[in-house]
Amino acid sequence: MSKKIFTSICIVTLIVLFLALGIITGTLYSHFSSEHLEQLKNETELTARGVTIGGLTYLQDLDTAGFRITWITSDGAVLYDSGSDSNATESHMETEEIKAALENGTGSSRRYSSNLSEIQLVSAKKLPNSTLLKLSVTHASVFQLMLRFLLPMLAIIVIAFFASFILASRLSKRIMDPINNIDLDEPLKYSGNPAFAEIVPLLKRLDEQQAQIKSDKEELEKTSIIRQEFTANASHELKTPLHVISGYAELIENGMADGENVHEFAGKIRSESQRMSKLVEDIIDLSRLDSGGEDMVRETCDLYKIANNAVESLAPEADEAGITVLVKNGAPVLIEGIPNVLYSIVYNLASNAIKYNHKGGRVTVSVDDLDDAARLTVQDTGIGISPEDRSRIFERFYRVDKSRSKAVGGTGLGLSIVKHGAKVHNATIDVDSEPGIGSSFTVTFPKQ
Ligand code: ADP
Repeated sequence: MSKKIFTSICIVTLIVLFLALGIITGTLYSHFSSEHLEQLKNETELTARGVTIGGLTYLQDLDTAGFRITWITSDGAVLYDSGSDSNATESHMETEEIKAALENGTGSSRRYSSNLSEIQLVSAKKLPNSTLLKLSVTHASVFQLMLRFLLPMLAIIVIAFFASFILASRLSKRIMDPINNIDLDEPLKYSGNPAFAEIVPLLKRLDEQQAQIKSDKEELEKTSIIRQEFTANASHELKTPLHVISGYAELIENGMADGENVHEFAGKIRSESQRMSKLVEDIIDLSRLDSGGEDMVRETCDLYKIANNAVESLAPEADEAGITVLVKNGAPVLIEGIPNVLYSIVYNLASNAIKYNHKGGRVTVSVDDLDDAARLTVQDTGIGISPEDRSRIFERFYRVDKSRSKAVGGTGLGLSIVKHGAKVHNATIDVDSEPGIGSSFTVTFPKQ
């Protein structure tokens, strides 16, 4: 980059220099050439007056050094010519200045020599007796002038080149030094330093990006740890029912199950298989929610209807546990959401409320339509959750009482599914609970 800045500065300096030299030479030349022509016109005027009074004698007595004076008749015959090729009659009459003088009284022109090295300024005037007087002077052309000044110009260019070389290398160093010295870990360290004043916005952006990278990295590490823990827990949770299943199967295989307990063993194998398949289902649900639910189709759903369906499918469990379940309010509550996920949320909360309840207890599921949100509340008269456990129950595989959870067919993933399901709907979860009295889980879904 420093090389690029250096080269750019050098190139720009040289271009500006060449342009400046060209423009200055051209402007000066054009100015002086116009001045010369004006002067020539005045001299033509004066000479014309002299010729009108003194005729040929006046011209013969005149010092014509530096000029060429030609006096011709209106049909082109040369009366006097101070120059050498005095007999080119035709060419006099065809010239621009003579044509203009015949028409308007005066005329002038500029003519370059064939090799462009010289320019001839010509001025002509028609005298009262209709003869024509012509004064011409020859100068070096602008090209010739530039050739003459070639050496000094080259000297200026070389000096300017070296000066721009030194300036460019200093300037590129000055531009690059602060950038090279930035400590990427702490970009804002330089924000008060005058040398870095112009790049403070860059420093701020770098700082923001660094903070973003840091938080992304932490998030990634956290996710990776969670995944590792999850894989370890999941394999452990899957291994346990498999051991039980293979143990009972082995007993039956070895003929150690008689008519009485074969029934019991088969029952154990069935319940462990059910637990395993529930666990696998929960793992699949959770991994789909982990991806943020981007690929899931959202639609307008009636949260009340979904809650009712979930409660209905839990009726056998509730009956078995002697729990009364009530769904309150009854009117449709419409929200934009993913039906399967909303069903999982209600199902898991209501299932927990039944599982962690006392015989003869109650579960109330309410769906309320608020102005800008829909609220789902699952309230139970169960065992409750202590404040210490409340902060951990949403962790994967966390159970307050592992043996109770296992006994009631828990997987330890229900509330994690609720948490992730709420997250993909931008919903918030509030838990209110008192050990021995009961718990209340409230999920608030924003409508926008
Ligand atoms: P599980 O499959 O064990 O029910 P969850 O993730 O659904 O797993 O819940 C985690 C733990 O939180 C449960 O094991 C239980 O100890 C506790 N818990 C959840 N809901 C309730 C509730 N309504 N009342 C009391 N404890 C609950």
